[in-house]
Amino acid sequence: MADGISIEIESLATGGAPAKPGGSGGDLVLFVGEDLALSPRAAEIAGPGAADLVARAAGVERFKGKALSALVLTAPSGLSAERLVVIGTGADEAAGRDWATLGGFTAGKLGSRSATVVLEWPGTAPGPDEVAAFSLGARLRAYKFDRYKSKKAAEGEESGGGGRLTLLVPENAGLKKAVRGAEGLAEGVILARELVNEPPNVLDPEEFARRAEALEKLGVEIEVLDEKDMKKLGMRALLAVAQGSAKEARVVIMRWNGGEDPAEAPVAFIGKGVCFDSGGISIKGSGGMEDMKGDMAGAACVVGLMHALASRKAKVNALGAIGLVENMPDGKAQRPGDIVTSLSGQTIEIINTDAEGRLVLADVLWHVQQTYKPRFMIDLATLTGAILVALGQEFAGMFSNNDELAQRLSAAGEATGERVWRMPLTPGFDKLIESKFADMKNTGGRHGGSATAAQFLKRYVNDVPWIHLDIAGVGMSAPATEVNRSWGSGWGVRLLDRLVRDHYEA
Ligand code: MN
Ligand code: ZN
Repeated sequence: MADGISIEIESLATGGAPAKPGGSGGDLVLFVGEDLALSPRAAEIAGPGAADLVARAAGVERFKGKALSALVLTAPSGLSAERLVVIGTGADEAAGRDWATLGGFTAGKLGSRSATVVLEWPGTAPGPDEVAAFSLGARLRAYKFDRYKSKKAAEGEESGGGGRLTLLVPENAGLKKAVRGAEGLAEGVILARELVNEPPNVLDPEEFARRAEALEKLGVEIEVLDEKDMKKLGMRALLAVAQGSAKEARVVIMRWNGGEDPAEAPVAFIGKGVCFDSGGISIKGSGGMEDMKGDMAGAACVVGLMHALASRKAKVNALGAIGLVENMPDGKAQRPGDIVTSLSGQTIEIINTDAEGRLVLADVLWHVQQTYKPRFMIDLATLTGAILVALGQEFAGMFSNNDELAQRLSAAGEATGERVWRMPLTPGFDKLIESKFADMKNTGGRHGGSATAAQFLKRYVNDVPWIHLDIAGVGMSAPATEVNRSWGSGWGVRLLDRLVRDHYEA
């Protein structure tokens, strides 16, 4: 894992500044609202004259304390900090404040510098959840994928990581536990980002499986199916995708049994893991094809989620299942016109070999619902370019056969900022995937491309409550936010962790 920042939490003792006022050498971070007032404890730590300095500098710099704005000053003499970083929090709206975004903004202002952060301002004292969210945002912002750069960024550059943050926060009993949980969640998101960012010559299905196996250290049970196992089971749809590649396919089943009753049915998460998608014989154009290393973002999210659940010892039985293949053109590759028999027994006519993700998911979904009888299944897949046309990069497309589950996930999306938009499933779409020669064909054409893909998947879930998330728009090449500057976004880890936390833990 890349170097992140390290975060320490210290209580803001009532009355009495810390031994070393203003930290030593790094920055001292203070927060103010639009009245620019410091909390009494912040003023004490910053020393006499700080409030006046901030007020005068704010006038010169036209700093008005607006949310997500900052004033960076050379620290006055007498403070051991080198800089004073004053961060605006805007009008008082503590109830709706996005603490993760505030943490991300703060980490962005610091770059790789170390800092003491006095996390309170007049009228606002964060509790455990708020401090945890702030630290989550800071960790996520500090993540940078530079493993393959022989020259690393210089200290102090935007989003470098490596710094040390000491958060001085109001004393609170549940603090340490909440912050530790956020640390595991941050690691899960960063693990997912890391997998998406890795180049396809490094992260092939076997290597991906090895990285998933590392979750064993956290107490996750791992089962890896190789091609022989898959043949024996009858996963011919998945294997048909893999047959043109020199790389062997893998399916990895990850089980976290944290529930009180070990026999209780698990909640299940399924990920598409096409480690590189050339399109196969229906080969893609060369422009932007390098982005197809990210066609495994669904599987990456599932691994990151399992990491997060296990590291906070979530009280739930959860199962992750990922189908890992590479889709390549070759003398052995599948052809348009081929008919394959899926694990379910349903036959599929291949029309376009670039519609390969649904073939992988068809077998994994079927295997999971038949073998593990889950409470629900949520699959994530960078499935269609059409979802980008519909929703851009603001929302993942959500298709579901269950209103309650869909509503719960929508709410988790609003809470985490990883938002989903519900799209339709309807029998009318079935007509578009009727085949002349087999039970169905693997693409329904351009119109309703995301919906016909979902309608296809629905044939492999039976009556299990199910959501399909099309994350082609949000899983990679993500727009910059305060909590993410990485190409691979790690999208979905926070969303699904929140869903589990809110509804499925004992
Ligand atoms: Mn494809
Ligand atoms: Zn694909």
